[in-house]
Formats: sequence, C-alpha cells, structure tokens
Amino acid sequence: MDLPFEPYRIKVVEKIQRIERDARARYLRESGYNVFKIPSEAIYIDLLTDSGTSAMSDQQWAAMMTGDEAYAYSRSFGDFKNTIQDIFGYEHVIPTHQGRAAESLLFAVALEAGNVVPNNIHFDTTRANVEYQQAIALDCVCDEGLDPTLEAPFKGDMSLAKLERAFEKYGVERIPFVMMTITNNSGGGQPVSMANVREVSGFCKKVGVPLIFDACRFAENAWFIQQREEGYEDREIVDICREMFAMGDGCTMSAKKDALVNIGGFLGLNDPELAQKVTNLLILKEGFPTYGGLAGRDLAAVAQGLREVLDPDYLAYRIGQIKRMGDRLDELGVPYLKPAGGHAIYVDARKALPHIPQSQFPAQVFTAALYLEGGVRGVEIGSLMFEHKDPDTGEMVNPAMELVRLAVPRRVYTHTQLEYVAQVCARVMEIGKDLQGLEIVWEPPALRHFTARLQPIGGGKMLRTP
Ligand SMILES: *Cc1c(COP(=O)(O)O)cnc(C)c1O
Repeated sequence: MDLPFEPYRIKVVEKIQRIERDARARYLRESGYNVFKIPSEAIYIDLLTDSGTSAMSDQQWAAMMTGDEAYAYSRSFGDFKNTIQDIFGYEHVIPTHQGRAAESLLFAVALEAGNVVPNNIHFDTTRANVEYQQAIALDCVCDEGLDPTLEAPFKGDMSLAKLERAFEKYGVERIPFVMMTITNNSGGGQPVSMANVREVSGFCKKVGVPLIFDACRFAENAWFIQQREEGYEDREIVDICREMFAMGDGCTMSAKKDALVNIGGFLGLNDPELAQKVTNLLILKEGFPTYGGLAGRDLAAVAQGLREVLDPDYLAYRIGQIKRMGDRLDELGVPYLKPAGGHAIYVDARKALPHIPQSQFPAQVFTAALYLEGGVRGVEIGSLMFEHKDPDTGEMVNPAMELVRLAVPRRVYTHTQLEYVAQVCARVMEIGKDLQGLEIVWEPPALRHFTARLQPIGGGKMLRTP
C-alpha cells in the first residue's frame, strides 16, 4: 500500500460542514472575492496556511496541563531550552511569541540602515523586518529554484555565485550575516541540501560572517535530505538536524510550523554578546527572558512538539500526504509547481487559466473558484499579492508566477479530504474557460491582498454560465 499512513489515531474531532453553493456564492460576493474575509465557519477545507493550524497530540495537551507558570526560570522553560539545545545545539535560547518577533529582535540589534541580508528567498515577514531597519533583503536562490516546471531535488539551494557577487557588490562590512530558509517557503516549500549548507557555511566562515537559519520547517527539510541526498539515507533525522545547525551560528524559528503548536517561536544564538543585546530588547518588548511572551504551558507544548516532529513515521506521512495530493493533481491534469513541496502544493494559475491575463488576477480567480465550487480555501500568491510599481520606470510590474498555495495543516486533514481538494481543483479546471477575470474595486495602501475588494470584470458574474 503506497498511501501515506497516519501514525496516530484520532482522539478529538471538530465538526466542519460544507454550506450550500448559493451560500458560498453569497459569501464570495460579500467578501469582495477575497477569501481572507470569509468567516472560518463557512469554510469546508481550510488550506490558507500551515502556520499555527496544527493539531496537537495528547502528549502536548498533557504537557500544557502540567506546564509551569512561574514567572522566572519555570520548569517548562527548562524543558523548552534543553530540547532546543539538544536538536539545534545553540548556546542561547530566547523564547518569542512567534517567528517574526524573533526576526524583529535580531534585526533591531544586528542591522543598520544600508546593510544587506542575503537569503535563498526571504519569507515576507523576514523581508519586511529587514526593510524596516532600512536594510536590503537580497534573494540568492539557485536558478533552478525559479523554474516552476523543473523537477529537481533541492530547489531551495542558494546560488554560491549569487552570494559571492553580493559580497563583491556591497562589501563584507555591509553584510552582518547571511540567512538560509529551510525549507524555502516562498520558493514553493523546496528543501536545501546539506551540501549547499556546507558550501554556504564554508564561504561565510571564510569571509567571517555568521550564518543564521530561518528554521521554521527544519524537520521537513531534514526528511528531504534523508530521502534525496546521498550518504544520508541511513542517518537519523535528529542527527541530520544537528549536523546542519552546527554549520550555522544561530536560528530564528516560528514554532507555529515544525514545533506543532498554535503559537510560539524562538531565537537560538551562539554569540553571547548578541544574545545579551537581544535579551535586553526582549525584556522591553516581549517579556522576561525565560518566557518571552508565551505562557509556561506554551513552552511545554513546543518542547513536546519538537520531539514529536522528528519521528520518521510522522514525516513520511506528512510529506507523503503532500506528494500524494500532487500525484492526484497530475492524474487529473491540474498544473502545479514541481516537485510538490514539504508543506504545500502551489497550483500554476497561468497554466490553469490561460485566457485570464495577469492584470485580471488569474490566481485570485482560481482561489475564488475553489471556494465557490467546493468550499476550499487556498491563498493567492500572484499579482494581487506582489504586483508593484518599478521604482525606476514607475510602471506596474507583475510577478513571474501566478500561484495558488494550498498549505496543508499538520495532522489535521485526512487522505479523503485531500482527495476531495484534488477533485475540486479538477472541477475548477473543467469550468475554467467560463471563469471571468477580476478587477479591484477598493484597495488599502499596503499589503492589499489581505483586505482588497474585487469584482468580476464589469461587475457581472464570475462564472459565465453557458
Ligand atoms: C511563518 C514564517 C515566518 C514568520 O513566522 P510567524 O510565526 O508567522 O511570525 C518566518 N519565516 C518563514 C520561512 C515562515 O514560514
């Protein structure tokens, strides 16, 4: 049997329901064709994000009940710190309420205006936090990582040539550290190879600049290394993690991903001076250094989640589930970014809806149609999110790809439910030629995709019924 086998049984369930198509059409209209604004109870299968949407285990809930709420040096902090040190190996462990808080604290103390931070691809909060310090967020992913049709094992790898060019162009004094995002979320959840980390780490050591991991999906990345990289097939997941993190100097982490919790994050650092500076700011902004904006029970759940995420049976099921959905989309003729990522499928909307020009938001049309046809919520990663004015020419520039991300929460949906999603995608392909483009009727000045209102071109119906 090649089905991804769930290494758990279900102990608590939450009712979901599929509301009628008429009601879905009404919600869509009322939300301005923006699925962010549809209430969660009107969503059937929610693949908006894998962040903070995991199901916790019985052991995690038990850990929450026995969490220690002492203000300082609680037992739960001890467990949190020891577990992180065991896996990541960093000397200083600084809890934060989520990933972006770790980014913002680190960047506030380590960046100055005019600095440059190379990364394979900066995640959007990382980029925003770099730019908030008036520094430049530079993407250096390998060229293969930018080709949506290419099947390659490690499309998250950083191009060493691009990294070297960045150092030549800006000079080492303007680059306080280099980052590596594992897996590369904004590039399709694609993994980074150990060979590439070794290469980048070697370069960073040579030029004397620290390497910081954006480690949100570190266990999924380690799984890909075990499955795809020569010499790692017999290595334990935790060993692979230790080898990788030992090549860096620290990490930022959103526990809402691979720590299997609904809220939390941390910063791991080796440099005592840097850690002290971050801690000073942490006390000001987040809380005492042993809880950093989290309850004791949250720290306990993170520690337990980090132990569970390393289970090879869990990872085989988790990544197998995404791959299986990709295989079904192949069979059903739905185009998506290849290969399937660790946490999500990215449907290629330009291919799926070739008659809709980028100016009419094909990926948003596909996203809206997924909701209309099946109550499924994905998220547009295309022109609605990323169209921008070129600062030199003043012209509007569209992103290279129009994607619909279907991010799968961890341990939440069954095989049958994801099969249903694949079939809804196929249904949208079927009616595709009758779908109209969308136009914006209202947008805020920044991050418009969250709240913009749209309508079918000319104010008619989105689905032209034949
Ligand atoms: C989610 C995420 C972050 C930010 O974490 P939050 O917990 O959402 O603040 C940073 N980097 C990557 C790669 C992420 O996926």
